[in-house]
Amino acid sequence: FRHGEASEVVVPTPNGDIYFGELHPIVVVAGPCSVENEAMIVETAKRVKAAGAQFLRGGAYKPRTSPYAFQGYGESALDLLAAAREATGLGIVTELMDAADLSAVARVADIIQIGARNMHNFSLLKKVGAQDKPVLLKRGMSATIDEWLMAAEYILASGNPNVILCERGIRTFDGKYARNTLDLSVLPVLRSLTHLPIMIDPSHGTGRSEYVPSMAMAAIAAGTDALMIEVHPNPAKALSDGPQSLTPDKFDRLVQEMSILGKVV
Ligand code: PEP
Ligand code: MN
Repeated sequence: FRHGEASEVVVPTPNGDIYFGELHPIVVVAGPCSVENEAMIVETAKRVKAAGAQFLRGGAYKPRTSPYAFQGYGESALDLLAAAREATGLGIVTELMDAADLSAVARVADIIQIGARNMHNFSLLKKVGAQDKPVLLKRGMSATIDEWLMAAEYILASGNPNVILCERGIRTFDGKYARNTLDLSVLPVLRSLTHLPIMIDPSHGTGRSEYVPSMAMAAIAAGTDALMIEVHPNPAKALSDGPQSLTPDKFDRLVQEMSILGKVV
């Protein structure tokens, strides 16, 4: 069981240092599943910044279930994230899938995301543990809490103390109405087990944009430190995860609702 104080993860961004942790306001990470082109990523960045987000998310390397599905635009998408960072000052969160891309991803990312499918990739965890950028570790879709915490331990043991845990829904027996089951019980459970900051991703957690606002509010009520929300300027045309993406207008409304709870940055 946990010993001691909540740790904080401090992430320098062009807009200043952002603090993740139990003792700080809720940090909001928002943006599309995939980086599609410069106009859409820069526009989305401006909109989510105006709404109140501190970080822009967007995938350059996408871990798709089918090898025939869109795989992300790779390095050229990293350049577009750099342009969006330059335009808005938002910090960048983007996924690393292959250790070969670590230096390219670390050049633009303020936080390196390890996706659900790579939570058990121990060699990748050791590599992000042996570099300086903070790491967002998503829960494997069938990972137990202990397996998830041990995956975090791989990063910590390799020398990087800056790990944020992200619940993104676990595999469900009933995928008819929601893509996954968002396990909000991790909030009190992880609080008792770890000092690390906790993020909730209701977008992948439900797979449906109409369910995202209530789950985001529930996560705040349960004490989350941060939220990850997928936002796309035209969800119907998105190259990945359109059905779970909020429009910028809906995201703006959600942040306003969240602020009523009084803890959003
Ligand atoms: C994502 O964040 O777009 C993503 C692929 O997430 P996950 O690894 O949780 O499926
Ligand atoms: Mn996605």
